[in-house]
Amino acid sequence: MTRNLEDLHIHSNYSDGVSSVGEITQRAAFLKLKTIAIADHFWPSLGSRKGGINIIEQRRHEIETCRDDYPELKILDVAEVDIQSNGELAPVAGGLEQFDLIIGSFHWFTDSTRWVSALVQALRRKEFQILGHWDGYLSSYREEDGRIAAEALAEAGVAIELNGRYSVEHIGFLELANAYGCSFTLGSDSHHVSTVGDLDFQEKLATSMNLNLMKVNL
Ligand SMILES: [Zn+2]
Ligand SMILES: [Zn+2]
Repeated sequence: MTRNLEDLHIHSNYSDGVSSVGEITQRAAFLKLKTIAIADHFWPSLGSRKGGINIIEQRRHEIETCRDDYPELKILDVAEVDIQSNGELAPVAGGLEQFDLIIGSFHWFTDSTRWVSALVQALRRKEFQILGHWDGYLSSYREEDGRIAAEALAEAGVAIELNGRYSVEHIGFLELANAYGCSFTLGSDSHHVSTVGDLDFQEKLATSMNLNLMKVNL
């Protein structure tokens, strides 16, 4: 099995992670990863530090310095943004277009019906490219909702993340999404430099289910 060399979900100390962008980058380079996404929450998404555009620009400056220091490593400037119950993404100072990628995530517990309804509305807005920890906050799951979600994700071209901090409860949804032609990403959701690149179980799952991993072309 070839090792996956992309970790597309890493938090820094610009949100609720504890490690700096520099520490994360150094660790990723040591592990010989090819691509990492520094993915932080920004105010008012859950887990963010209070503040506006200054935090985002300061972080971007650090990312740019690290890009110069580690030219072999692709470092993506990413935001993880709350998908709200009305299907809107939480606002981010300066807008969503400034980032390389947006991870849209549910950070509130929801049943299957409300989940699919908010997700379908959010997908229509075409504001995010990855659905983070897709069942991390799902209190119930119905296959008929999964079918609607999988079809909408495939149509929108939004990838489904296999996340290192949340175990997959509803494997049937992954089978459905795979059948509908969805793509997938792997993210450690690391909040400390020691877990950067921790993708073992997601890799095994993706390989065993023959899931199609999203290619990052930036
Ligand atoms: Zn999250
Ligand atoms: Zn996260």
